[in-house]
Amino acid sequence: GPLVIAVDGTSGSGKSSTSRGVADRLGLRYLDTGAMFRAMTWWLLREGVDVRDPAAVAAVAERPTIVSGTDPLAPTITVDGLDVSVEIRGDDVNAAVSPVSAVPAVRALLLDLQREVIGAGGIVVEGRDIGSVVWPQAAVKVYLSADPGARAQRRTAEEGGTDVASTQQSLLERDRIDSGRATAPLTMADGAVHIDSTHLTLEQVIDRIVDLAVS
Ligand code: C5P
Repeated sequence: GPLVIAVDGTSGSGKSSTSRGVADRLGLRYLDTGAMFRAMTWWLLREGVDVRDPAAVAAVAERPTIVSGTDPLAPTITVDGLDVSVEIRGDDVNAAVSPVSAVPAVRALLLDLQREVIGAGGIVVEGRDIGSVVWPQAAVKVYLSADPGARAQRRTAEEGGTDVASTQQSLLERDRIDSGRATAPLTMADGAVHIDSTHLTLEQVIDRIVDLAVS
């Protein structure tokens, strides 16, 4: 069947740049599942839903229509037709997305959406539970990690910010919740290849994954 590459890992480990680079090199589509959870979170916040109340979140989670564009060179995400690519990277979403993602009803809804997109053809998919839950049959599974300091530095640079310490705190808080939740916690999937990107360049990480895919 079509080639599916699963890239899981912690916040800020370089999953997005890496996954987009691999997809571009191999002529595959690209799906950012984190953006879907972020889009759901953005919508809940805009609706004034209490994102710390799992029952309140579950009650309305099926209302927004979330659509992911899969071009690795220009990924998009819309909610009810509105492009929210920029809005989903804000501090308010950063702070609320992990609790929202821990709600089983949210995961079930987005899981169906993700499988629909993946099933349509070759793709690189990044997230937390792609190799373990969403698409365990992926031909290539990667678990990407990096030291917290390196992750915070990269993420701060990406966001054009300066406060590395507060970025690191926010990353570690998301990791803590993502690893500790009951449904589909962040773990290394069976058969995943662990790549620690702390001392590697983006190109080196992309090369390794492309090698895994073509060998
Ligand atoms: O990858 P990114 O940092 O944008 O993901 C944001 C959040 O979405 C993660 O911290 C996690 O809570 C959630 N997420 C998830 N499962 C995925 C992808 C993201 O729970 N497959």
